[in-house]
Amino acid sequence: GTETAEYLLQNGCEVAIVEMLDKIAAGESETILPLIMNDFAAHNVEQHVKTRLTAITDEGVEAVRTTEDGAEEPVKIACDYVVMAVGSKANGFDLDGVTVPVTCVGDCSGERTADIASAIRTAYHAANEL
Ligand SMILES: Cc1cc2nc3c(=O)[nH]c(=O)nc-3n(C[C@H](O)[C@H](O)[C@H](O)COP(=O)(O)OP(=O)(O)OC[C@H]3O[C@@H](n4cnc5c(N)ncnc54)[C@H](O)[C@@H]3O)c2cc1C
Repeated sequence: GTETAEYLLQNGCEVAIVEMLDKIAAGESETILPLIMNDFAAHNVEQHVKTRLTAITDEGVEAVRTTEDGAEEPVKIACDYVVMAVGSKANGFDLDGVTVPVTCVGDCSGERTADIASAIRTAYHAANEL
């Protein structure tokens, strides 16, 4: 999501990010995150954290923001385009009745999605077991 935001900024778009957690790109490394945040500050990216998207309308998006005291307040953000980047999950297959050995590695392994190190690790272990 943050990479897409940076791409859109480089192409002249005004970008607002809606994130339900209290931090954008929470899993990003501490070496890369400051660079992303500098980029966002330079381009005046609106950052709506603790804000959960609830609807997409013709005018933009609707969300609910959790305030410091735990209350919830509605938020409306006008926009022309909406990009959804709300996580990833394994894309599995039905292996019922399949007798040949099937090994799932990488994002479909169930270990961890969207993580190249995990993809390499699971593939390495699978290759060693063949
Ligand atoms: C924009 C973006 C940025 C990322 N940045 C990072 C990063 O900075 N650091 C990091 O660690 N990870 C990052 N990731 C995650 C990382 O790319 C993945 O974890 C990694 O590519 C997983 O490898 P994989 O081989 O399991 O799956 P993939 O690389 O997704 O390869 C799976 C392949 O299977 C093909 N396929 C799917 N279904 C079928 C089918 N039915 N038949 C035949 N082929 C099929 C797909 O077309 C695809 O080519 C990023 C991902 C994205 C999308």
